[in-house]
Amino acid sequence: MPARRTFLRTLSGLPLAGGLVNAQPERRAGAARNYLRELGVKPIINAAGHYTMFTGSLMPPEAVRALASLAVVYVRLDELHDAVGARIASLLGCEAAMVTSGAAAALALGTAACITGTDPEKIRRFPDLTGMKNEVIIQKAHRFPYDHSVRVCGVRLVEVETAEELEAAIHPRTALLLFLNKAERLGRIRRTEFVALSKKHGVPTFNDAAADVPPAGNLTEYTRMGFDLVTFSGGKGLRGPQSAGLLLGRKDLIRAARMNTSPNSDTFGRGFKVNKEEMVAMLVALEQYLKRDHDADWRNWQRNITLIASDLKGLPGVSTEPFIPEIANEVPHLRIRWDGEATGLTAAEVMRRLREGTPPIEPVPEPYVPGTVEIASWTLTPREARIVAARLREIFLAPRRLERAGRPDRISA
Ligand SMILES: *Cc1c(COP(=O)(O)O)cnc(C)c1O
Repeated sequence: MPARRTFLRTLSGLPLAGGLVNAQPERRAGAARNYLRELGVKPIINAAGHYTMFTGSLMPPEAVRALASLAVVYVRLDELHDAVGARIASLLGCEAAMVTSGAAAALALGTAACITGTDPEKIRRFPDLTGMKNEVIIQKAHRFPYDHSVRVCGVRLVEVETAEELEAAIHPRTALLLFLNKAERLGRIRRTEFVALSKKHGVPTFNDAAADVPPAGNLTEYTRMGFDLVTFSGGKGLRGPQSAGLLLGRKDLIRAARMNTSPNSDTFGRGFKVNKEEMVAMLVALEQYLKRDHDADWRNWQRNITLIASDLKGLPGVSTEPFIPEIANEVPHLRIRWDGEATGLTAAEVMRRLREGTPPIEPVPEPYVPGTVEIASWTLTPREARIVAARLREIFLAPRRLERAGRPDRISA
């Protein structure tokens, strides 16, 4: 082995070292680094809501402090996992809880738990399901992109529509009955009946309520009504770390889910690692969320929407409509419609101009009503809401200006 001094001397001779220093010419001693500027990545105004592609939600300062303070101390991970889980379970009045690396990971680990239980041999063998349960029953209207996170367990999804079909589909290899919380009104079997059927047949239920906070009451509602497993994203309404989530439910299933993941190496879920910083920051974010003045939050969100709507008032052909999505992302939003013919603007063009301006603005990526532009209120500061309003005014006024100047309107082409 080369002596340490030789190694350091070699390193100092590398051109790379100088390159790194030169990468931040404007940095003065003691000044905070602007990482995004160094990387050439633009911060955005998030008018979309809590989307993973827009980095979720922003953490409160208490959670940020928790991240930083845990980053500089060692602990036994399992001991911390136990303690954080117990605290979350007591806060939410459920049997047991664990922090996962998001709701999608919770879906996978919860499903694995229902298949393997706490049997070490099955856990090691998973996802080879020979001789194990391998079917998950779901209502047809509840199929959703994230059910992929259940299917990663190698199970087959069995679609049903009525209670009779569900009962007929249950057999000894049924691992789980899966429910998508926001699809409550779309399926023929509602939550209470779904839970009752599962109890009757002794098959566990899992309710995916990832984006369904607020209202805060949902955090306790579904475990209390008898769902065996429930998940919420950490980095949506709860404003915890974006790569964290909560898995709540039955003690034996949470224990089985824990056995199927990190730090246990020979497991299916070893890649769904959560370290101490995010575990504690998730707990702290949850505590902060439960303490918040939810009515005040609501008034602030509504103020953002009112501000944008009143700034757009009077623009010819432009109209706005406040709305609140049902169940998931249940907070004030604003829908904007305009006269496409008069303005020559398609929805895609309005969205492009929002995204490509400075600063970039991201509206709801797939509007609830196609052909409109929709703005979420809860990720905006009042200052950002004003910028969004000003940009929208500019966009809706621009094509008319182009026409008056007699220039070809390339936008509508
Ligand atoms: C966002 C979401 C997920 C995934 O949550 P992550 O915490 O990002 O893993 C799963 N299910 C539903 C219904 C969601 O809305």
